[in-house]
Amino acid sequence: MEASLADILPGANAEHSAVAAFNIFGLDEAVCVATAAEALRRPVILMTNKDVVRRIPVEVFGPALRAVAQSVSVPVVVHLDHTYTFETIYRAIRAGYTSVMFDGSQLPYEENVAGTQHVVEIAHACGVSVEGEIGSVAYNEAETTIRHELTDPETAARFCSYTGVDAVAVSVGTVHKLTDKSAAVDQELLHRIAAATPVPLVIHGSSGVPDDDLIAMARGPVAKFNIGTALRRAWGETLRMEFAAHPEEFDHLTLTKAPLEALRRTAREMIALLAADATDPFTQKENNS
Ligand SMILES: [Zn+2]
Repeated sequence: MEASLADILPGANAEHSAVAAFNIFGLDEAVCVATAAEALRRPVILMTNKDVVRRIPVEVFGPALRAVAQSVSVPVVVHLDHTYTFETIYRAIRAGYTSVMFDGSQLPYEENVAGTQHVVEIAHACGVSVEGEIGSVAYNEAETTIRHELTDPETAARFCSYTGVDAVAVSVGTVHKLTDKSAAVDQELLHRIAAATPVPLVIHGSSGVPDDDLIAMARGPVAKFNIGTALRRAWGETLRMEFAAHPEEFDHLTLTKAPLEALRRTAREMIALLAADATDPFTQKENNS
C-alpha cells in the first residue's frame, strides 16, 4: 500500500526500529524489494536518485513504482532521493511520488531553509512528505563536489522548526558509496541532534556502517536508512559470476535471475536488521535466526 514518510517514520521511532530505504534501478528490483518487505511484514522505501531519473523520467518511473506499492499489503513509500531543482520535484509530485527529498545542503544555510520551506509548502498541500538535509554527507568518489560537514545540533533544530520537514538527513560520520563498513559514526553527536529536534532522523551512506552501529542507531533516534551500495554490490557481483559461469548466455531473464535473488536476500537482511526491537513476531524470528 502507498505511504509517505510521515505515515511510517514516527511509528518506527516509537517502536525503536527503522525503515530501510533502497535505491532502485529497475522495476524488477522494485518488485523484489517490495515483496521482501511484505514477507517480513515491514514497511519499506523505494527511492530513485538523480542519475536514474535522467535515464527513466519521473513520469514513467513514478507511476510504475506506485503500482508496485499498491501491489503489496505493507506500507511502501515512493521517494525521490537527493534533488537539487524545484522543477524535478514538481514533476515527481505530479507523477505520483509520495515523498521527495529537497537537498539544499550545498547551499548557504538561509537558502537551504528557504528552498526547503518552499518545497514543504507545495508537497504538503499535495499530501507528499519531504526530507531535508542539514550538514553535508560526503561521497566516496574522486570527482565529487559534495562537501563533508558534520551536522550541528542547534542548527538542525532551527532548520526543522523553520521548514516543517517530515524527516531530516544528518551528517554524523557516514560517507556515500563506501564499499567497506569503515564509517566512523559519532553516536554522541547523533544523540545530541536527536535531543535537539523531534523530527525523525535519516542516515545516508548506510552501506558503509558496521552492523552494530546500524542497530544502535535504529534502536535510537534514526528512523530511515538510505541503502544503495549494498544492493548494487549484491546485484553486480552476482551478475559478474553469472557471466563467467555462462559465457554463451544472452537472455536477460536468465542472466538476472541469480542477481535478483542476491538483491532480495540483501534487502531482507537489511530490513530485518533495522527492525531491531520491533514487536512483529515474524521479524523477531528473522532477527534471531
Ligand atoms: Zn544520500
